[in-house]
Amino acid sequence: MPTPTPPEWKVTLADNTIDEEEIAAVTEVLRSRWLSPGPRTRAFEQDFATVLGCPDAVAVSSGTAALHLAVRALRIGPGDEVIMPALSFVSAAAMTVLAGGTPVFADVRSGSDPTVDPGDVRKLITPRTKAIVAMHYGGYPADLVALAGIAREHGLALIEDAAHAPIVRAPGTGMLGTIGDIGCFSFYATKNLTTGEGGMVVAKDPVLLGQVRAARSHCLSAGTWDRDRSGRADYDVPDVGLNYRPTEISSAIGRIQLRKLAGERRRRRALIGRYRDRLARIPELIVPFADYDDDTGLHLMAVILPVRADRDIVRARLRDAGIQTSVHYPPTHQFSYYRARFGSDRRPLPVTDAIATRLLSLPLHARMTDDDPAFVADALAESVLRACGRTVS
Ligand SMILES: *Cc1c(COP(=O)(O)O)cnc(C)c1O
Repeated sequence: MPTPTPPEWKVTLADNTIDEEEIAAVTEVLRSRWLSPGPRTRAFEQDFATVLGCPDAVAVSSGTAALHLAVRALRIGPGDEVIMPALSFVSAAAMTVLAGGTPVFADVRSGSDPTVDPGDVRKLITPRTKAIVAMHYGGYPADLVALAGIAREHGLALIEDAAHAPIVRAPGTGMLGTIGDIGCFSFYATKNLTTGEGGMVVAKDPVLLGQVRAARSHCLSAGTWDRDRSGRADYDVPDVGLNYRPTEISSAIGRIQLRKLAGERRRRRALIGRYRDRLARIPELIVPFADYDDDTGLHLMAVILPVRADRDIVRARLRDAGIQTSVHYPPTHQFSYYRARFGSDRRPLPVTDAIATRLLSLPLHARMTDDDPAFVADALAESVLRACGRTVS
């Protein structure tokens, strides 16, 4: 985690763009003394939906809450299977299990495109399959054309885990999160747009989104803000709900972060360009999505180490140089719970299994200097080449 930053880091893995603007907005909320969802949360939803080009959005308390509400709205339950990439954060699998369903793990396409492989998804469909989850790794689009086609053909729901991809337009497809039936975003502290903790849900079908909105707050027929405005004290509870509400504080931060996002992404794009130039000097390295030259991606600077380079040793050397790194992700099918409960490691996922121990995420955030990518890439080159028994030229 990037904060609090230990003083020894020269380059942290992630950072945010929070500054005086957000501080002033939070102060204003605190002074208003209305902290639970109200006008700022509604405005954040409307701003987000407008920029995304969809009619409405529902702000929630985390990306995981967004996924849980999605699974619930799609009525995924006992006996239902949900196909998803093993190479993702554990949330979508966990929320499927929580709903009583079974996560079924699919492989990714390749080291250079570690998004879910539609061919493998197709092989995993059974009469029990209810939905497919597409995750946009690092903000690079999964193959939504193929996945939406498969979903349509088999009458399945398509959930987009767009936690890495707020306001990302994929050429020829459209805004990520709006292509499938339901799109889930995360505003966790390390994401491109952060509210500390938070998330957003969008859906094609307004009825589905209405169910998400209701379940976010106990399925009450009228929330506190509405009751305060209307003067009516009564409400009904027509279904079982949750409390996944954001706060006015997080929503006020989110509105400003949303305005900053385009500039933030421009900065990340410049840094990735510098990284790619410098990393090209390490031919042993695979740089996923290296030939993507559009405005997608930009959330992670992932690389795949050569087989001979021990990741722990490489990470330790980078740490000694003051460079913070991470791994996105230890694949879900190898976690003890998923192995014990579903035997999820019994079906081999050749690509995922081959790259899982070699993936490494390098620092990427808008506060990095122009020189940081070369500093990181050179430190990486040295440790990788040493691990491969080559000298540094
Ligand atoms: C961060 C993340 C989540 C979960 O979001 P939270 O806000 O941390 O609950 C889900 N999926 C992916 C791919 C993520 O990166």
